[in-house]
Amino acid sequence: MRRARLRVKSHTGFVPIVVAFLLLLSRVASAAHHEVLACVGAKVYPSPTAVPLEDAVLVIEDGKIQALTPRGGGHRDVPGSAVKLDCTGKFVVAGFWNSHVHFENGWAHAATAPASELETHLQEMLTRWGFTTVWDLGSETGNTLALRARVDSGEVPGPRILMAGNMFPKNGHPVYLPPEMQLPEAATPGAARQLAERYMGLGLDGVKLFTGAYMGARPVINMDSAIVQAAVKVAHAHDKPVFAHPQNHIGVDNALAGGVDILAHTIPTEGSFTEAELQRMKQQHTALIPTLSLWTTVVEDRAAAAGLVQAGANELKSYFSNGGTILFGTDVGFTTKYDTGQEYEFMARAMGWSDILASLTTNPSRFFEAATKGRIEKGMDADPATDVRNLSKVAYTIRGGRIIYRE
Ligand SMILES: [Zn+2]
Repeated sequence: MRRARLRVKSHTGFVPIVVAFLLLLSRVASAAHHEVLACVGAKVYPSPTAVPLEDAVLVIEDGKIQALTPRGGGHRDVPGSAVKLDCTGKFVVAGFWNSHVHFENGWAHAATAPASELETHLQEMLTRWGFTTVWDLGSETGNTLALRARVDSGEVPGPRILMAGNMFPKNGHPVYLPPEMQLPEAATPGAARQLAERYMGLGLDGVKLFTGAYMGARPVINMDSAIVQAAVKVAHAHDKPVFAHPQNHIGVDNALAGGVDILAHTIPTEGSFTEAELQRMKQQHTALIPTLSLWTTVVEDRAAAAGLVQAGANELKSYFSNGGTILFGTDVGFTTKYDTGQEYEFMARAMGWSDILASLTTNPSRFFEAATKGRIEKGMDADPATDVRNLSKVAYTIRGGRIIYRE
């Protein structure tokens, strides 16, 4: 199956996160941290479906989870040298993925900006919300590469960053992007092939196609399915996934016909997916990123925005209840809406809390084949089961044994 071929760079080391009532764990780090951390007294959700462990002791050493035991039996396992975090009243879940972000607004000069400035911004936008892995679906490539290099070297504490190179249809410069911005357009299958090869050569982790470009009052400009297919073929030959920004039905249909792996948005202005689209998405194992809170930012009229959000939620529900794979994503960094609470609230109109947690953890790690992440293996006043917004209240974010955010 095509999905089985998709691969992103493999990393070693565990990454935990703790949220105000919550601590998240996953395995991501590039540079394992030689410190022993012990989180004592938390309620631990090993996975979205597993029975949680109450009052647990979790020990992280050299960036990996060494022990997860009930308190009492576990106490003696905590080495004397460990940094002990009092996790009473908190819960622990795997590190979150945000599968749709941008390093666009306020991220210029990542190569030269002071490390502390970048760290603060990464915390405000990502790590304080529990993200330990993010997909940059389009920003200035050289700039994000510089940021990623500084994070990977350990200089700047931050999440693991995956990047997709962008491709626009001919004359499809979306109205919401500055006109002076140079956008890579693919007018023919040959041009798409060449551009995709270039992205693979740069070490990017995927490709994102604007199969529908929003032109304001003028009609949406769509990318031909033959062009989509050419780009997909190159990316898949390199075991990399392809995202699509669909915008409308044609954009969805051309993306599916060309074999893209992920729809990076719902299409709320269309009202709903067609039955044929839902069937094909299911059949091709296409993943969907809802970006519901984004729809509050695209129109000024509040009633119109609420209508878009509800249409997006209905589309999410139709695909999710049909067995489709959902990946969490917000488009943050294009928007300045950093708080994830509203996205959880909107998603909860279509799915339960444990399925939302899966969209943040196990779904992306399985989909992108980082099989060692997204679970915790080997807080009781607050719990995501009682209020889904608690997933946005982060006390600690820990990546590879290193605390990259603390409240
Ligand atoms: Zn975006």
